[in-house]
Amino acid sequence: MQRRTFLKTSAAVLSVRNVFAQSAPDWGGPVLDTHLHLRTDPDACFTHTRGCGVTNAVLLTRATDEDKAKQEMAKRPGVFVRSVATDPAQAGADEVIRKAVHEGAVSVGELKYHLALDSPEMRRIYDICAEMRVPVMMHIQSFPHFRGELPYNTGYPQFDKVLRAYPRTNFIGHADLFWAHISADVPTDRGYPSGAIKPGGLTDRFLSDYPNLYADMSANSGNNALSRDKDFSREFIVRHRTKLIFGSDCSCTDGKGGGISQGRNPEASRLAGQCVARATLGLLKEITSPEIFRQITWSNGQRMFKVNA
Ligand SMILES: [Zn+2]
Ligand SMILES: [Zn+2]
Repeated sequence: MQRRTFLKTSAAVLSVRNVFAQSAPDWGGPVLDTHLHLRTDPDACFTHTRGCGVTNAVLLTRATDEDKAKQEMAKRPGVFVRSVATDPAQAGADEVIRKAVHEGAVSVGELKYHLALDSPEMRRIYDICAEMRVPVMMHIQSFPHFRGELPYNTGYPQFDKVLRAYPRTNFIGHADLFWAHISADVPTDRGYPSGAIKPGGLTDRFLSDYPNLYADMSANSGNNALSRDKDFSREFIVRHRTKLIFGSDCSCTDGKGGGISQGRNPEASRLAGQCVARATLGLLKEITSPEIFRQITWSNGQRMFKVNA
């Protein structure tokens, strides 16, 4: 080949590669992101899903934003379902949740408030979820992301008491402390412990012992827990294959890592500039079988959040 032709060909190959780098990955089937917060411009959620190769998503929706979510669902038929979230400590919270579920919300969450997991306020929500047959997803975090941040959903070490008291409620655990407890040692001076996992962690045990507990793998917390000790994770995933549910909690703009990802959470900088959805889906591809990948990224969530296949 002449040098000039060679250079031209190389340039063509490079530009084709760039086009591929920009296009959405194909995950080999439908993928449900169960943790996508409704954005200021709701259609930005659709942009995110298309950028990272996600086909369907649960729009995490505050009760005050319900109309926005409904409009977005109508605009993109068959793509989204929605949750409802409101502060359980506010007067009338029960009625707000009942009404939203009657009108089509498929889950309650995420609940990220400064309450104890076994507080009367949270217990009222668990009762409604059992009665209306919708799951509840909680953000469980004690170590602050910024100065002065208070803990959310406290009392996780005693959460088994709640799991036993509400056998008809499906609980979905999420966030820093929930995932730090994948290991039997949990340092108190950071939110995202790294390094080898010590077997016997609370989350591992609760998932084994209680059929009504599920795990949301979203955010840096889920990605970090499953990345830090891949030999452990491979078996953890097989063990809890019916209980693990993919979600992203990603805040990037385009599903490719654009915009500000992990803002206000410097401790999660390991994923800065990356799309969390792409990162976690890539990780799962690497450490699970295609069959379990399908289960975690589609069927488990599809059943739980009543997404039409
Ligand atoms: Zn959260
Ligand atoms: Zn993203």
